[in-house]
This record gives sequence, C-alpha cells and structure tokens, in this order.
Amino acid sequence: MVDRQLRHRGIADERVLAVMASLPRELFIPPKLEAHAYMDDALPIDLGQTISQPYMVARMTELLQPTPGMHVLEVGTGSGYQAAVLARLGCSVVSIERHAPLADAARDRLEGLELGGSVRVVVGDGSVGRPEDAPFDAIIVTAAAPVVPRLLPGQLSDGGRLVVPVGPSQRQELTLVTRHGDDFETRDCGGCVFVPLLGAAGFREAAVGRRKWPGRQSLRSRPERPE
Ligand code: SAH
Repeated sequence: MVDRQLRHRGIADERVLAVMASLPRELFIPPKLEAHAYMDDALPIDLGQTISQPYMVARMTELLQPTPGMHVLEVGTGSGYQAAVLARLGCSVVSIERHAPLADAARDRLEGLELGGSVRVVVGDGSVGRPEDAPFDAIIVTAAAPVVPRLLPGQLSDGGRLVVPVGPSQRQELTLVTRHGDDFETRDCGGCVFVPLLGAAGFREAAVGRRKWPGRQSLRSRPERPE
C-alpha cells in the first residue's frame, strides 16, 4: 500500500509513510471487508459512512505538516483511522463525530492501540468547530463541506493549517487554509470525493438525501488526473 498507492503518487513525508506502514488498517473496518484493508479505496463502515482511501489520508495528513505535540481538531471521526495516524505522529487530537455509535466504536478501537500522542473522541456537530478546545495548530475535516465552514479558520492558532474538502456532492476541491495573524491564505490542493459534512455549517440533511452522493471517496474519480 505504501509503495504503490502512496509513495508512487507523490506522498513524500517519510514520517507519514512510516506511520501508515505500521498502523493496521484492518482494525478499523468491518471484519467481512478485512481482505480489502490495503486496497486503494475508501471502504464502507457503519451508518452509511466510510473510512477514507489511504491516499487521501496520507495527502491530508501531509498537508497539515503534523509535528509531535501539535493540538489537532478532526471533524468526522468515522472509524478513527485518520485520528490514529495523527496520534501516531505525536499529535494530541480532539476528534468530533455526529454519530454516537461511530464515536463509541472508534474510542474502543483507539484504546487498544499504542499511539504516541492521544485522541479524545467527542460527539457533536463539528461543522462549527470546537471553540472550548481552540485554538488548534491544525484542523482536518474529513467530510465534504459546501464552503469553508465559517467558524473554523478563526479556531486556528497563528500559522495553523486547516484542510477541508469543499464543493458539491460529485466532486470537491481539497482546500488548505493557512492562518497568518488575521490573514487567511487559501490554496486548492486537488480534487476529491467525500461523504457530506452535515450540521449547522454543512449540507442540510434533507438536501443530501435528494442528491446522489457517491458511497465512497476516491481520487480515481479526479477528472483532471486519470490514473
Ligand atoms: N476520518 C474518518 C472518515 C470519516 S467519514 C476515518 O478515518 O475513518 C466522515 C465522517 O464525518 C462520518 O463518520 C460522518 O458521520 C461525520 N460527520 C459528518 N458531518 C459531521 C459533523 N457536522 N460533525 C461531526 N461529524 C460529522
């Protein structure tokens, strides 16, 4: 997985590659899908959600430039895999999930792992961030938002980085926002497809029901870079 799907496609951060080589992804997916654990795909978990494609996890992690001791907010715990990658890189992660059963399952999984850093999983609407734990050195949103959620950039510390997929259901742009004092620099970092961010600053649940959301996320759906 690391050589073919990550290094080959340009992931260069050796620490990220080493962590993803050592973290057992099969622990984060339903047992019946275990054989697919290292394939180049997002996979379904409970409640219609997904564990992200390994390339996407690596790419988003790399964009955050995580260093030991960094205080990170993740919006969308899902399986807990992305949070575990960040914690293995030494970060102290607060991860927020709107579905309590997913949060509980992720917490159980993470408890059994040696992480280096830490993960605290909380239940709630992460589209508005987590003001009580701000500021964060990095924020990662692992669900697609219609626009950059308004309250998130202000919860970054100076120099902090936010990565969030922004756009409509069929395709989003991975967007990196970097805080420089009171200025915010925004950079587009390529196409992606994620499940929707719901909640106050996300998509409306009723609207999502009517639209066709792909059941998985995959960079292979990038129209401009067919592989
Ligand atoms: N990071 C995950 C993948 C997450 S899939 C992993 O490594 O497995 C996206 C997740 O975001 C889903 O679990 C979904 O329930 C959650 N989500 C969507 N909107 C949310 C919101 N407003 N607040 C918190 N979680 C949200």
